[in-house]
Amino acid sequence: MRSSNLYERFSRTFREHPSLSRSFLAVFVLSGGGLVAYSVANSAKYDDVGNQKKKVVVLGTGWAGTSFLRNLKNPMYDVQVISPRNYFAFTPLLPSVTVGTVEARSVVEPIRNIVKKNKVNINFCEAECFKIDEKNKKVYCRSTKDEKEEFLVDYDYLVVAMGARVNTFNTPGVEENCLYLKEVEDAQKIRRKVIDCFEKASLPNVSDDERKRMLQFVVVGGGPTGVEFAAELHDFVSEDLVELYPSVKNFVKISLLEATDHILNMFDKRITSFAEEKFYRDGIDLKTGSMVVKVSDKEISTKEIKTGKMSTIPYGMAVWSTGIATRPVVLDFMKEIGQANRRVLATDEWLRVEGTNNIYALGDCATINQRRVMEDISSIFEKADKDQSGTLTVKEFQETVDDICDRYPQVQLYLKNKNMSSLVDLLKESKGDGDAVKEVNVDEFKSALSQVDSQVKNLPATAQVAAQQGSYLADCFNRMDKCEKRPEGPIRFRESGRHRFRPFRYKHLGQFAPLGGEQTAAQLPGDWVSIGHSSQWLWYSVYASKQVSWRTRSLVVSDWMRRFIFGRDSSQI
Ligand code: FAD
Repeated sequence: MRSSNLYERFSRTFREHPSLSRSFLAVFVLSGGGLVAYSVANSAKYDDVGNQKKKVVVLGTGWAGTSFLRNLKNPMYDVQVISPRNYFAFTPLLPSVTVGTVEARSVVEPIRNIVKKNKVNINFCEAECFKIDEKNKKVYCRSTKDEKEEFLVDYDYLVVAMGARVNTFNTPGVEENCLYLKEVEDAQKIRRKVIDCFEKASLPNVSDDERKRMLQFVVVGGGPTGVEFAAELHDFVSEDLVELYPSVKNFVKISLLEATDHILNMFDKRITSFAEEKFYRDGIDLKTGSMVVKVSDKEISTKEIKTGKMSTIPYGMAVWSTGIATRPVVLDFMKEIGQANRRVLATDEWLRVEGTNNIYALGDCATINQRRVMEDISSIFEKADKDQSGTLTVKEFQETVDDICDRYPQVQLYLKNKNMSSLVDLLKESKGDGDAVKEVNVDEFKSALSQVDSQVKNLPATAQVAAQQGSYLADCFNRMDKCEKRPEGPIRFRESGRHRFRPFRYKHLGQFAPLGGEQTAAQLPGDWVSIGHSSQWLWYSVYASKQVSWRTRSLVVSDWMRRFIFGRDSSQI
């Protein structure tokens, strides 16, 4: 009794003083323990001076939604979060969860824990949104526990951060027979299935052909997720399972199928070649230029892109990891707002959904439709030509340059690619009269900027983009009133005044591709490439530091240490 009271007092002290818990983190990490925390929810609809708070509804608790919630600081909002999962999942570690390098609970943090310290009034509902009614500013939701339990939530601002679903490209048999690697539950299913295959293949009455099939693991998709999973699986098999299942170890085969000519296409060529060579050395059967056309319960049919040759691969477990597609609820919403002809929900550069006033979309469920310079070129010229003379002097041009670069980031990218320091250099190059350029007319201006839109690029569907968008939008919400009075964005070229906020800018911090055997490829800004064991340590430190709480950080680090000392757990639970 005494000891339990003592424990409770200790525990309460840590919860009430988070800084204390941080100081003791090292001790917790070493002992493999975790911090316990509880959520508190309250609801207040009016601020201190009696003004009604603006209702913000956030759909989704992934990277984008959680980053928005963590960074929202202005208490003028009453926030309702709706998501079928009551936790945030650190997706970059899901491949590690599939083989038990890291436990599932170590990569998730309850959303109520995350928001409880926030001064903003945030409530959570475990439900899914199945319809967005833009005209009446309402979202239709249903409980994930009881489908008949439906309810309506109204909003002043809606933040759509629902992520995406797996893209099967309508390949027959994929949904019924393949496993995905998108959610925590998917990773847990894969972990169970791998062990299931080994246990079944070890039964005495199984033929060698059947054993071979059961232990044939096929990964479809050579992107970062598929590659990392194949590498994790190879490590699990070669470091842990071959010792535990010596009688079947010679039957194991891992295949990676990729439709294009190379894996890890979005990475530097040096990384692609290193990864392909490493997989070859490790005995991972890499089949590039091979497209899956059908999956049955025991066989995968593929077609060689170049020759059209068909073949079949018997398999025990197939993991489908070929990219993402828009969720049905978002597709319906797109139809409602006149975006039916698009594949992905389009927003402007301030993350506001095109065709709406107060709906924002971020993360994997949306894409920024970057305004082209050439669409606005006449308006830009008119705004810059302050004396309405019909020509633009260098001075007039220089006064507008910052706004142009702010509004159209492709201009800066174009200059960087051409090694030019300013837009004036571009005018000089276009006119071809060196230092002599004093003024340009509208046609010369158009011709100078005619190529800049070639630099417009879609942002990748990554956690990095989603998290940065979440914190950017929260920052805009925090300063909504201030920026309404004193706009700080670029000039509105087609209308009068300025934009309230500066547009969203993505800052690329680099990307990793773990390749197994304690080797990782890192591609950092400036195309700096590092491959090997040192990058693996960089990967460990970055992913430990990026955890959303000290609790998950300590759990992840202790999982890594446990794996180093005892290996991975192969129990099928
Ligand atoms: P998500 O994180 O998918 O969150 C979507 C949220 O919406 C979830 O909470 C979901 O439950 C909720 N939701 C779904 N339907 C509804 C509904 N109807 N109503 C309400 N809520 C709903 N990116 C990187 O940058 N680096 C990596 O190393 C990396 N590794 C990855 C590894 C794996 C295995 C996977 C699957 C992804 C990885 N990514 C990585 C990509 C990254 O996870 C995504 O880009 C990121 O999760 C997108 O964030 P999001 O908030 O848009 O969507």
